[in-house]
Amino acid sequence: MKRRQDAIPRGVFHYAPVFTARAKGALLEDVDGNVFIDLAGGIGCLNVGHRADPVMASLHAQADRFLHTAVSVSPYEGYVRLAERLNQLTPGTFPKKTLIVNTGAEAVENAVKLARAYTRRPAVICFEDAFHGRSLLALSLTGKAHPYKAGFAPFVSDIYRIPYAYCYRCAYHLKYPACELACADRLREMLAHEVPADSVAAVIAEPVLGEGGFIAPPLEFFRMVAEICREKGIVLIADEVQTGIARTGTLFACEQYGIEPDLLVSSKSLGGGLPIAAVTGRAEIMDAPGLGGLGGTYNGNPVACATALAVLDMVQEQGLCARAKHIGDWFMARSAQWRQSWPLIGTVHGLGAMRALELVSNQETRQPASAEAAAIVRHCYEKGVLILSAGRYGNIIRLLMPLVITDDQFEEALSVLENAIAAAPERSLACAVDSKS
Ligand code: PMP
Repeated sequence: MKRRQDAIPRGVFHYAPVFTARAKGALLEDVDGNVFIDLAGGIGCLNVGHRADPVMASLHAQADRFLHTAVSVSPYEGYVRLAERLNQLTPGTFPKKTLIVNTGAEAVENAVKLARAYTRRPAVICFEDAFHGRSLLALSLTGKAHPYKAGFAPFVSDIYRIPYAYCYRCAYHLKYPACELACADRLREMLAHEVPADSVAAVIAEPVLGEGGFIAPPLEFFRMVAEICREKGIVLIADEVQTGIARTGTLFACEQYGIEPDLLVSSKSLGGGLPIAAVTGRAEIMDAPGLGGLGGTYNGNPVACATALAVLDMVQEQGLCARAKHIGDWFMARSAQWRQSWPLIGTVHGLGAMRALELVSNQETRQPASAEAAAIVRHCYEKGVLILSAGRYGNIIRLLMPLVITDDQFEEALSVLENAIAAAPERSLACAVDSKS
């Protein structure tokens, strides 16, 4: 830890002082020989698990042929095949094309470039509590000031933000369904009064908020947003970086909302542990930039393309969408019991196996219980479970376990989490006293 502190800037955060030695499936072993059940999955990158056998076979086979050529110097089969697969697997039967890049933020940047080139309009509308990455444009689209944005201004101009359908903390203090989705109407209002529709290139949204706390909006929310975009000629970008690749019970979450975004951004679990990201969308939008207008030296790295192809096969062959639904239902049943026992649990968020507990210190006022969430994360890793928090207030405990987690492993992790929740009020108090003394 001392060497880490001396060599690496403090801005690079880590949840737990656990130095990894090796990992397989849903288990991670540290350099001291401690074994952890991994409910973090490298922040949602390991839906197929650590070092899945088909992923490793594909990786080795490609690594033995060539590692890099730069696709703009000499193209190769893996990039083309992955583009074809994503064109076929993403929602919508219209002609599509795919651009492959390295990270979620880079894919978001490219999606916005594509929307601007196609519409020849400047503005982008995004949502409160969104997270789209840390590069300048992606950070400008991200909602949360601390720790992401503070100190990094100035941001990109022509970006507008509206409330997301975060019903538990409704921006308008209304209740669904009586609210008639005032938050989706806000988009219409913004286009009428604040930013003319004919200057808006894109609306970008996560189908379920990731870093924002796994908030899954009512089904009609996205249908309304999609309808407004279609009406006004605005490109709808779905950021499925965290929701994609079977996490929510379908390959992409948009399928469950019944929407076909014009552009869909995927990353994280697509690579099975290697950095890769993609923008897939309507061919006419994807073809808007001129020759050489898109690219990047390492984009579509051959080894990452090979692992992504293995991931897509594995999701299908091992029925990981059904497995995600099963894990999600299991968690919902268990968390329903927890809610009866502990008023600390305000609500349960999410879709499929993308599940989270929002913690509150008062059920009426919904005062966020952020210290308790931190205490739970700490308790869990001390007892051998890696888990993450999220949300506007950091009071949400989220689960991103590999979908290949065994029943026994998941059961064990749930009992650790259960004990952590039971101990949280006392532990968070002890931490507060500790930090004062
Ligand atoms: N979009 C979403 C929805 C994300 O969750 C993330 C990462 N947490 C990103 C974009 C950015 O991805 P990356 O960290 O690979 O740049």
